[in-house]
Amino acid sequence: MPNKIKSVRWTEDRSLSVVEGDALDPGPNELQIQVASVGVCGSDLHFFRGDFPPRPGIVPGHELAGIVSAVGSGVRRVSEGDLVAVEPLLRCGHCRFCLSGDYHVCSERGLIGENRDGGMSEYVNVPAITAFKTPQGVDAELGALAEPLACSVHGFAKAKVKSHETVFILGAGSIGLTALLAAKACGARAIILARHPHQQEAARRLGADEVIADNEAGESRLSELRKSQAIDVAVETVGGKGDTLLKAQLMLRPKGRLLLIGVFSIPNVSVNPLHLALREVELIGSMTYAASDGRADYEIALNVLSDYAEVARTLVTHRFQLDDVQQAFETALDKSSESIKVHLNPALQA
Ligand SMILES: [Zn+2]
Ligand SMILES: [Zn+2]
Repeated sequence: MPNKIKSVRWTEDRSLSVVEGDALDPGPNELQIQVASVGVCGSDLHFFRGDFPPRPGIVPGHELAGIVSAVGSGVRRVSEGDLVAVEPLLRCGHCRFCLSGDYHVCSERGLIGENRDGGMSEYVNVPAITAFKTPQGVDAELGALAEPLACSVHGFAKAKVKSHETVFILGAGSIGLTALLAAKACGARAIILARHPHQQEAARRLGADEVIADNEAGESRLSELRKSQAIDVAVETVGGKGDTLLKAQLMLRPKGRLLLIGVFSIPNVSVNPLHLALREVELIGSMTYAASDGRADYEIALNVLSDYAEVARTLVTHRFQLDDVQQAFETALDKSSESIKVHLNPALQA
């Protein structure tokens, strides 16, 4: 490991800069990882656009995988040279939620890449508990996709999606498309509503049973599906400020489940209470991933990536070096770039 390493850091004026710093040895129960792949996430873009202020000085990046380059004292489960994907949740480790595997709702919950330095760096130190060895056929690029995919794996487990059911996914950004992959892995029939042509294409590549465009023809198809009570589970993946939760709700058959994965930036959105009560629709909130059922969602996501490696990789549409981080964020933000998942590959650096 070199003494000096390159990292992307948020600056005081909320922009990104590439800076050189000292490489630190991992502390007790920590690992040092040589980052090979790190995704630009929608939540990183919130900071980039200025929706929320980032913490100045912090290295962003919570969708990461790489090679363990050093281990601190007390680390046993992984060794130097292992390829690992990082589940970026920080937690206290002692509260009742942490102890039951629900560490994603720990009151001391934090995120690697927001509350401590993340993966947009040549090397990063992380708690050893966050590292998952990748299974056969899952390289660092696929390993970094475990983060968005695990959000859907968690939600689908909460919604108890079964293989004979039909899932309607509203939105075909990287969360919507990873939800599609989760639906395929459940064996469910997957129908997805996609706004942009490149997202529609991506959904077809991933094996969507039906892709509905966000236009007039799409609207009439949606009304057919509503009338035939075809949708068992509706998944909202867009969030933001729109009425997409209501739109997803209204697709459901009686006794259907409405799964909320998208992150809304406003405090209140509409549901139709009469529709919800009359049909006994179940509303299921879902946040990140955990190990609530005795097995980590991250591990399941990594196995799904191993099973669907070839199609999953098509989600990564753009790859940049660390020095080109500005361009990477702009590409991720600009839908006309036809980007789905933009990755930085710090190991590509000279
Ligand atoms: Zn993310
Ligand atoms: Zn806790």
